[in-house]
Amino acid sequence: MRITGTSREELETYRDARLRSLLVHAYERVPYYRKLFDRHRLHPRHIRGAVDLELIPITTKQDLRGLPAHEILASGMNLARLLSVRTSGSTGEPFTIRRTWLEDKRQYLLRLRALRSLGMRIGDCKVSVGVVRPDDPNDRKLIGRTLRAFGINRSFRLDGLQEPEVVAARLRELRPAIITGMPGMLCRVADYLASSAGQPVRPRLLVVGGETLTPVMQRRIQQGFGVPVRQIYGSHEFPLLGWECGVSGQFHTCDDGAILEVLRDGQPVRPGEQGEVVATNLNAFAMPFIRYRLGDIVTRGDERCGCGQPFSTIGDIQGRAIDSFTLPDGRVIHPYQILTSLIAGADTWIRQYQLLQERRDRIVLRVIPVDGRVSDQVSRVERSVLPLLGPGVEFKVQLLDHIPLDPTGKFRPARSLVHPDSSGRPAAPFHG
Ligand SMILES: [Zn+2]
Repeated sequence: MRITGTSREELETYRDARLRSLLVHAYERVPYYRKLFDRHRLHPRHIRGAVDLELIPITTKQDLRGLPAHEILASGMNLARLLSVRTSGSTGEPFTIRRTWLEDKRQYLLRLRALRSLGMRIGDCKVSVGVVRPDDPNDRKLIGRTLRAFGINRSFRLDGLQEPEVVAARLRELRPAIITGMPGMLCRVADYLASSAGQPVRPRLLVVGGETLTPVMQRRIQQGFGVPVRQIYGSHEFPLLGWECGVSGQFHTCDDGAILEVLRDGQPVRPGEQGEVVATNLNAFAMPFIRYRLGDIVTRGDERCGCGQPFSTIGDIQGRAIDSFTLPDGRVIHPYQILTSLIAGADTWIRQYQLLQERRDRIVLRVIPVDGRVSDQVSRVERSVLPLLGPGVEFKVQLLDHIPLDPTGKFRPARSLVHPDSSGRPAAPFHG
């Protein structure tokens, strides 16, 4: 875990050794990977390190989801003793991720290291605002309890689905130095704080993760809490993939915990180019994720961070590929293509937005405006977006005073209700 003084070469040596032992383990003990390797006439000895990863076929969530636990878990694992995280998935298809207690703690320590590098100090009071799940009975929380006994763990969890004034009241009471959480939830609290006359909440550090942070969300959180917003990048399968570097503005990739590839059409993109994230978790042996397609779109960053630390970088995180919009003529556009064209001059009048593809031929921009005088802005936006979508696609701006969160507590700035393969039939009931 210690990274100070570690050279890039040492980091790569560690990473490649860890990858080789993961592959041997998965081949010998996880039936899914055994079959996958055999089918492609591949053996772990063919892989020297990250440089040979492309020999391994990519696995998707769909590949794993339909399989019984004994196919995707390492043999000899006691299912009853593993920790489990059940994800709803942005497509609404549930999926359970399992790890051992030790694996979970390794992931926790990597996150702690990231928070430390963002400015968290020992003894800081930390509040995370998120979806509060009941404790896993297999999680003995030894580390947390031990640290708490020494008075150096003061961390609290708040349910971010509560009304913003309830969350704000608790934050005023706790006065945390660190606040972490999902941007959508923190936005609601930030808006409340900005508009209420009570005591301000001023953490030293505010870190978001778990969903896409748009520039508008970033500005609202900054206004409400009075501190710059810092980001951590992870998912349920990969609790830590990256964290923001305070010096370069890029994200450090967690190279000693995961191998992150950025691919387009199966080929690695060059630094500065966008692609899809495919990742390998070096701390998941109970349920391995090897060359696993996450569905996020990111911009690949520099090979080495400019700050001198040994990590490679992610330039920028655009969001989920799953929310791409498929148009009637078959073109697939990333919602950010629409958003960048309209957000450029528009962020002074938009408090919050959500881009929603209701049907293949109808896209709606839901907007909570800053105030009521927006009719010029609405027609300007409609005029600028229509040419991008082409003929036959309707585009409307809808003014609202509230945009609900997903049932999972996430706020998704772009959503499509159209299944990619369907002819325009909504994929799921509409929660709006
Ligand atoms: Zn850096």
